[in-house]
Amino acid sequence: MKLLADRIKKDGKIYPGGVLKVDSFLNHQVDAELLYKVGEEFYRLFKDENVTKILTAEVSGIAVASLAALCFKVPMVFAKKNRGSNMSGDTYSQEVVSFTHGKTYEIAVSKEYLKPEDRVLIIDDFLARGNALIGLIELAKQSGATVVGAGVVIEKAFQGGGEMARRTGIRVESLATIKEMTDDTITFAE
Ligand code: 5GP
Repeated sequence: MKLLADRIKKDGKIYPGGVLKVDSFLNHQVDAELLYKVGEEFYRLFKDENVTKILTAEVSGIAVASLAALCFKVPMVFAKKNRGSNMSGDTYSQEVVSFTHGKTYEIAVSKEYLKPEDRVLIIDDFLARGNALIGLIELAKQSGATVVGAGVVIEKAFQGGGEMARRTGIRVESLATIKEMTDDTITFAE
């Protein structure tokens, strides 16, 4: 998606450890108009899959997943990271290793919001080593729902998560794929 690649080139900031900050439009300040266009692109790619639910993880997936849900006209569910404090009743839960913090955390979704008859599209902001995406796939599978695919805004292909996630057989679509990142340049895959 050219619009997205152009915005990443213009506003993305490269940090040590292969981290890209896009806080001005995706992860802190949100450019809703751009993310709506991202949602429309996900809709174009997955519209024939009879999606009934969009699934993401808090916090950074919520904005883009909400706008995608608007395009699909289905609810968006976000997995919570602090189950104890604010969730009641039965939950599905899954451990995930964080790319940005290196720690393991748990994501959980109430059993009320994922059902065996659901056709789930997973949406996330970044795909790096693939742990978040695999965690969300496992979480959805626990409910018996069908995972129809995953839509990622930015894939850092050099960190291998895309390859790992695609090996599970799940269709993964990334709207901007970064092939290489040095201290001051970002190279996108064609
Ligand atoms: P993974 O589990 O694929 O290694 O990492 C995915 C998660 O880590 C994403 O949901 C995102 O929150 C975070 N993440 C990974 N790489 C980056 C990055 O370069 N920049 C930002 N802002 N978040 C990232």
